[in-house]
Order: sequence, then structure tokens, then C-alpha cells
Amino acid sequence: MLVMQSSRCKQCDQPLVEIDHWGECLTGCPKCNRWQTSDGEWCRLAPDDIMALRALKSPKLRSEERT
Ligand SMILES: [Zn+2]
Repeated sequence: MLVMQSSRCKQCDQPLVEIDHWGECLTGCPKCNRWQTSDGEWCRLAPDDIMALRALKSPKLRSEERT
């Protein structure tokens, strides 16, 4: 599988990230909410899914606050 980690968003120039969305691998930009499937199709995630994505990172932030 080809992973293009050096890819950047054409709109905001942020590095693209890979996520697992209900078992499907999506590559895209969380800032612009633009995601590309492994088939090359572009899609958008529901706002709730974006919230869930950001929530994944919050436990790490919480532990940093405690130290
Ligand atoms: Zn972007």
C-alpha cells in the first residue's frame, strides 16, 4: 500500500493525515474536512465525525495537563 505522508492539502498546505473511518482508510485534511478514499473518491465527514477525530487526541492533552 502506498502511503503518501509527504502530501499536503492543496487548500491550506497542512500535512494530510490518515484515519480509519468505520473500517475504511481515508486520507485527507481535518482542517478543510476533505477526505480521499482508497478508491480515489473525495468525500466529506459529518461534523460529528470530525468532533470524534479531535476527541481522540484529547486524552493525550488531558494527561499532559496533569503532569
Ligand atoms: Zn486543508
